[in-house]
Amino acid sequence: MASPKRVALITGGGRGIGREIALALAREGCAVAVAARSREAVEAAAAAARRLGVEARPVALDVTDPVAVTRAVAETVETLGPVDVLVNNAGIAESAPLLKTEPELWERHFRVNVTGPYLMTRAVLAGMLERRWGRVINVASLAGLYGAPYVTAYTASKHALVGFTRALALEVAGKGVTVNAICPGYVATDLVWNAARTIEARTGKSFDEAVAAMARINPGGRLIEPAEVAAVAAKLLWDDGTNGETLILDGTPAA
Ligand code: NAD
Repeated sequence: MASPKRVALITGGGRGIGREIALALAREGCAVAVAARSREAVEAAAAAARRLGVEARPVALDVTDPVAVTRAVAETVETLGPVDVLVNNAGIAESAPLLKTEPELWERHFRVNVTGPYLMTRAVLAGMLERRWGRVINVASLAGLYGAPYVTAYTASKHALVGFTRALALEVAGKGVTVNAICPGYVATDLVWNAARTIEARTGKSFDEAVAAMARINPGGRLIEPAEVAAVAAKLLWDDGTNGETLILDGTPAA
């Protein structure tokens, strides 16, 4: 087995973008803790990472629960070693016009998409600073930079995550730790399939029409693949010089 160079913890790592990031970091030689609310949900992703020749553990973690956060980080440190790379990927996206955005929906978005990354980062940052090496990679969204209709809670929460990224990046600048946000447009995952089902139910558009409409909103006119997002995360792993950036993935071809 290749000896791991770094230990990475990926939240919401059982499927979609998080799973791809976990595997991309495993291919870079990282030992990976793949975390999600139930251990069963991440067992398959951890097994896939192990097949790439690295150590990998499924970890149970609800990012909104401070006790679970402390426990998950302690378990990762015990089994794999100190966390060098934190990927704050877990997130939710529900749509509703503002007048139907009840306080619970609003607060749920902030709990998962903002408080989660805050709790996770606080749990690992001291160690990163001590070792003078660390990566915090926040999976934000184009919705962290621009507005869109019917998603005030999601958009406000992702703007907050981008603000968190920029402020913390300045706080740790020059100390060996970088903090960046990846901002993709619509990516081909359950999150988009669920949104398409909601559009289908509310508007009478077909599922395929709803997916095609979302693909057209991306400046490149197509859905982004989870592996494209993962490739940006893998690049950030070895990049000491990028800090406080919002890395946009909008489906347009590279220059
Ligand atoms: P997804 O729904 O497949 O994945 C979300 C993951 O977050 C799941 O594994 C889920 O279990 C986990 N999760 C949700 N709440 C959690 C909690 N409280 N604690 C722990 N885990 C929790 O969707 P995805 O597209 O893979 O989303 C991953 C990230 O990418 C999210 O932050 C999302 O906002 C962001 N993103 C997605 C898109 C897109 O179009 N798919 C675009 C831009 C950004």
